[in-house]
Amino acid sequence: MHFSSERPGSNLVVIGDDQLDGLIITGLTGEALLEAARAQRGDPRHAYYPLFALPSGPPPDGTHGAELAMLLDGIVNDEAEAASMAAEHWREVDGQHALPASTPEARLISYLALRPSRPLAPLRDWRSPTVYRFPLLAALGAGESGESLSVLAARGLLVRRELVERLRLCPGCGGAHLLFVDTCPNCARIDIAADESIHCFRCGHVESQGRFMSDGSLQCPNCRARLRHIGTDYDRPLEHYLCRRCGDRFTEPDVVARCSICSHECHPEMLTTREAGTYQLTEYGRMSALDGSAGRVFERFDADRYLNPERFEHLLDWQMGITRAHSDCRFALVLIQLRWPAPAQSAQGRAQARVLVREFAERLPEFLREADICARTREPDFWILMPQADSREAKVILDRLQSAIRDEGTPREAGLSLSARVLRSSDLRGLGKDARSVMDQVLRASEGTANA
Ligand SMILES: [Zn+2]
Ligand SMILES: [Zn+2]
Ligand SMILES: [Zn+2]
Repeated sequence: MHFSSERPGSNLVVIGDDQLDGLIITGLTGEALLEAARAQRGDPRHAYYPLFALPSGPPPDGTHGAELAMLLDGIVNDEAEAASMAAEHWREVDGQHALPASTPEARLISYLALRPSRPLAPLRDWRSPTVYRFPLLAALGAGESGESLSVLAARGLLVRRELVERLRLCPGCGGAHLLFVDTCPNCARIDIAADESIHCFRCGHVESQGRFMSDGSLQCPNCRARLRHIGTDYDRPLEHYLCRRCGDRFTEPDVVARCSICSHECHPEMLTTREAGTYQLTEYGRMSALDGSAGRVFERFDADRYLNPERFEHLLDWQMGITRAHSDCRFALVLIQLRWPAPAQSAQGRAQARVLVREFAERLPEFLREADICARTREPDFWILMPQADSREAKVILDRLQSAIRDEGTPREAGLSLSARVLRSSDLRGLGKDARSVMDQVLRASEGTANA
């Protein structure tokens, strides 16, 4: 066995005889060690290789220590120990060193192939916008929030093992730092207080109990009547809250979810949910690492997100058939149309609009759920088929899209506008027998409203 420093004076020691079997970060401690581990996992050449540390002092503790443990394959006492641990990892892939590494997802699949018994787990870190983050994914370049994991699971490459948390996320920015604020149902302001009130039967006056107290008994501040018996002279309304701004009394405050990151406000029902969990490689995932096809997973994914219109129609027919036969099945069909003012427009403006439409087309799939499919029948017409969805789920996606577009601000400058129609499976029944006639009807109706 042979060890050498990767570069003279560097903190990396190479394990391996005739080929590189792994790396050891030496002579560092604390934060510097964590930084080095992130950088090493982020190096596409050796991202999935066994990586160890031989620290010069105590490793970091707390969240940083947990993150370091997720990036390393172990802290070792000497190089021989690292070499024997590295050999065990390579045995899992029959010693094959050249595994897919062209994309972050490919590097992840290769990484997991070397460590089949080690599930990928999220780290809880309140500093992270999504509270749970995957340091390894961040280092590999796949995005620390773990969104790509559910896509890889949907493709059969990963399987989710343990559910760690169910997150509610801001539809605007995807963050999990939310405040749930009680507000006045009348004026939507937050200056409300619990307040027992009294209702005078004689004059109908309603006010806070405190205003009726007079020398230890109850007297109406309006008509001066002495209120002796509840049920005959007065009663206590069920409205236990008072808005100090608009004076409204109500039984239950409204709850608003407010994002602490982007200030987006919405009803709690509009929050998106995501499950954080641990993931493991499937046998199919292991095979695609070994035969090299994992490298193409995301190329395939991009190409697949837009189906050709015939295939989309075929799937819509199929969904319509399912909902006709099973009343508990449903779906939503969404038509998004990008429009720009056609007359009096410069060639430059048209070119700019075309770029925006292309950018929109590239980004739209990010906003969809795993099972949703989309197609384009004309350049500015985008169709989304959302199985087992209702207008609510469709609206969540549209809201996210709209706020993303608003934040970027460009389409409006270019005069581009977005309109969307959401149809539930139950709405489609009257529109036509098959997908083709339904889609024609929807297009015709949208043109009707556009011209109106
Ligand atoms: Zn937000
Ligand atoms: Zn109010
Ligand atoms: Zn009164």
